[in-house]
Amino acid sequence: MLRPFNPDLVLMLRLSTLLFLFAFLFWSNQARSQLRMDPGDPPNPAPLPHYFQSKLTTIEQRVKAIKKGEVRVVATSPGGHPLYAVYYGDREEQASRANYNSAVAARDPGYYASRDSSSKAVVFFLGPVHGHEIEGIVGLLNLIQVAESGKDCRGKEWPSLQQKLEQCRVIILPCANPDGRQRCPYDSFLGLPVALMTKYGQGTRKDGSSWGWPQAKSLHPMQGNVGILGAYFNDDGINIMHDEWFSPMARETEAILEIARTEAPDMTVSLHSHHQVSRILPAAYVPWYLKMRIDSLTRRLNQRYARAGLPSLPEDGIEGPQVEDMSYPPQSSFNLISALHHVSGTMAFTFECSHGTVREPESKALLSYGDILDIQMLLYDEMLDYILKHRLY
Ligand SMILES: [Zn+2]
Repeated sequence: MLRPFNPDLVLMLRLSTLLFLFAFLFWSNQARSQLRMDPGDPPNPAPLPHYFQSKLTTIEQRVKAIKKGEVRVVATSPGGHPLYAVYYGDREEQASRANYNSAVAARDPGYYASRDSSSKAVVFFLGPVHGHEIEGIVGLLNLIQVAESGKDCRGKEWPSLQQKLEQCRVIILPCANPDGRQRCPYDSFLGLPVALMTKYGQGTRKDGSSWGWPQAKSLHPMQGNVGILGAYFNDDGINIMHDEWFSPMARETEAILEIARTEAPDMTVSLHSHHQVSRILPAAYVPWYLKMRIDSLTRRLNQRYARAGLPSLPEDGIEGPQVEDMSYPPQSSFNLISALHHVSGTMAFTFECSHGTVREPESKALLSYGDILDIQMLLYDEMLDYILKHRLY
């Protein structure tokens, strides 16, 4: 015999369902919300120019508006955020019969990706793996706009850049560490103290002291003695720049390496930012001929900045190619750049953009938002120019 409904029981069930729903929403909101600034820290610079946006919500909007490119979600971060990659230009078949290092051992990288001078150049723009280094996200969202319309988000036309983009197969991954970006409470560090950028970028210990650079690399994964988990890391505390290549800890890393492996890019940039003048950094543990090519591109870009009236280095201030670590202890690591090269043969390098941070709280930034965007756009233009004129085959 069926028992009649107990109205109290039904009410209790409904209430507990509601309570569960609220708890879930609260938890997921907490997990996804941006970190609050500590009391006393300066506010987020506002308002930012409309072309200088880098929040995950903006990436989402821009990616959804793409018409010419193909958008793929290549991974999901530990924090549940999608990793978007945007592809422009048809992918040419590159008959492959061996993985890269085996092909090199057979004395011909063509066994890995068969190409000649008539093949389309492939260029991989890898957005920040360090979430607070937002300048690369801003730049790549503007680059996407150029690929879509010929103009950046300011409405500035880039006809030559657009033409070069159309000659290549281009892969743009606007943000390689959405967890870190989500946790960074600042949308720009322009005019803000370096120490503040370091605090939220590399994070703090439980006692509130900053991990700083390079000590932020001395604990990996960054778990345990953590006050603020720096935007350097994904939500699991992984710094994608220094993952474990033979057994990656982060899905983001796997996806990045998979893009390199399957696309065999001629050139790959990993976009970063720092306090100093913008520059390409020498790569470690890549062949000498690539070190020389990277040096050549570095100098061309530096001259381009000087001609544009942007901060640049004196010619003798550029660090040239180096032989790694002639003595103990070693200082050069086999990082993401080295790994990208060794899975695909790509000419990979790090670009460090100026944040526009200041040393003294009261001093004025030497850059404007427009300058930072120009620094990014001129980099992309120089890269494409270089690879279209200096193919390896
Ligand atoms: Zn970085």
